[in-house]
Amino acid sequence: EILYLGYHDQLTGLYNRHYFETIINGEMDRADRYKEPLSMLLLDLDHFKAVNDTWGHLVGDDLLKTMSAAIQKEIRSTDTLVRYGGEELIILMPHTTKAGALLVADKIQAAIKINPHHTAGIQTVSIGVAQRMQSESFRHLYLRLDHALYQAKENGRDCVVASDERIQIPSDQMRIEWRSVWESGNTIIDTQHKELLQIANNLLDLTSSAYICQDEEEKIDLLLKHIEKHFEAEEKILERIGFPNYENHVAVHQSLLLRVSGLNRNCGN
Ligand code: GH3
Ligand code: MG
Ligand code: MG
Repeated sequence: EILYLGYHDQLTGLYNRHYFETIINGEMDRADRYKEPLSMLLLDLDHFKAVNDTWGHLVGDDLLKTMSAAIQKEIRSTDTLVRYGGEELIILMPHTTKAGALLVADKIQAAIKINPHHTAGIQTVSIGVAQRMQSESFRHLYLRLDHALYQAKENGRDCVVASDERIQIPSDQMRIEWRSVWESGNTIIDTQHKELLQIANNLLDLTSSAYICQDEEEKIDLLLKHIEKHFEAEEKILERIGFPNYENHVAVHQSLLLRVSGLNRNCGN
């Protein structure tokens, strides 16, 4: 019973996000190993806020329940339907190509339309579809799905959009560029600041990359070690030259170190 509660959403009875997170890596490993297609759908109910606002939350809850049940009927027993967020569902489909996933998405939309809710009436969903690329990280795949879903909403909702594999995820281009106003005039400090940006940019590349990397934690460690070393060196220099805001600067360093060690903990699990 405890396991059931831990892995299921109370309202809809669907698997919850926690369950999804425990199985997704295994599913992706299997797909890579056996070179099998793996596809996913990301569904979001259209104008769900309006249902809550018009009929109240209990009707909203009931709609979520009946829609979840209707969707469950349309998929295979080997597919996994998950309540990923509030009214956002994910369907994980092993052995399924993008073309197959698109068929499932169309079937779900049709099923929802022919089963109007007794109080809220006919409802629609928007769906993003993607087939996972070889070795693609879940994070990258999710960003592609989310982008496709966003386009489906933009296209007027009640719509299915398949993700293009060549899409550039915006965060891929996220980089911190060195700015001349940061130039302090002290060679050691400036060199260390530039190294810091380099390490941070490497980490950004990693977090937005399409492929799963084992060494994320290592890179975070490297960043932390560099920051510690740099703060120590910089404080020595500032103290020696009688920098006016020295104490203040040290206090800022200390609070940053605290925050950054929290970051390490969050990434570790
Ligand atoms: P859109 O077509 O853009 O998706 O419009 P929307 O109104 O559905 O907007 P959005 O997806 O951002 O809003 C989700 C709403 O779902 C907000 C929240 O109040 C509602 N919601 C989330 N979880 C539950 C739930 O468990 N029960 C009920 N009744 N409402 C929920
Ligand atoms: Mg939503
Ligand atoms: Mg919605």
